[in-house]
Amino acid sequence: MRVLVVEDEKKVAAFVAQGLREQSYAVDIAPDGEMALDLAAIVDYDLIILDVMLPGIDGVAVCQRLRDRKSPVPVLMLTARDAVEDRVIGLDSGADDYLTKPFSFVELLARVRALIRRSPSPPVAKLVVEDLQLDPITRRVSRAGKPIHLSAREFALLEYLMRHAYQVIPRTVLMAHVWEFDFEGGTNVLEVYVNYLRNKVDRSFGKRLLHTVRGVGYRLGDEDAL
Ligand code: CA
Repeated sequence: MRVLVVEDEKKVAAFVAQGLREQSYAVDIAPDGEMALDLAAIVDYDLIILDVMLPGIDGVAVCQRLRDRKSPVPVLMLTARDAVEDRVIGLDSGADDYLTKPFSFVELLARVRALIRRSPSPPVAKLVVEDLQLDPITRRVSRAGKPIHLSAREFALLEYLMRHAYQVIPRTVLMAHVWEFDFEGGTNVLEVYVNYLRNKVDRSFGKRLLHTVRGVGYRLGDEDAL
């Protein structure tokens, strides 16, 4: 599950992100509304945690723009004030729930779980590409019926490639989706992980599924089917 945390206060953003990561959510942080809207346009988030008080476009306006774009992503709004009118404005803008600062992480997590359960588009039960299968919920991967054990990062990479099978995924897009937004490690790391993944998913199986598209990125799928 991928969550976007929109918060300009670094401490709060880091606290929320770390807690969610410990619960195995992938978390991106946007420090302002514009970046939040940009990220939400390219990443299919399962939830957005949106602070109302932001520099530039505030949280209420961000939420309104998301809804104007017909984005169904659940939004949990954070507000520092407990004024009734703020809550009303927040919910009128299309937020699904709100939480007043300061909040406990346990409370935040309970809201997050409830909102993800209510999500209009629950995750696909199982992804299948040729004889390769990945279950996002149980996190089981197999090829030709043989179980494959992947690290968390390899799993995330494969899941993304499988969700976009037969499409060429530019390296920058893969980096943006699989490595959290603020990752600073250069693009070599992508090649390294693609190689790990190839060793596990392609080696010792007859047909290669993970292809390099020179100068662009990667594509998962049977070449014969293209
Ligand atoms: Ca803030």
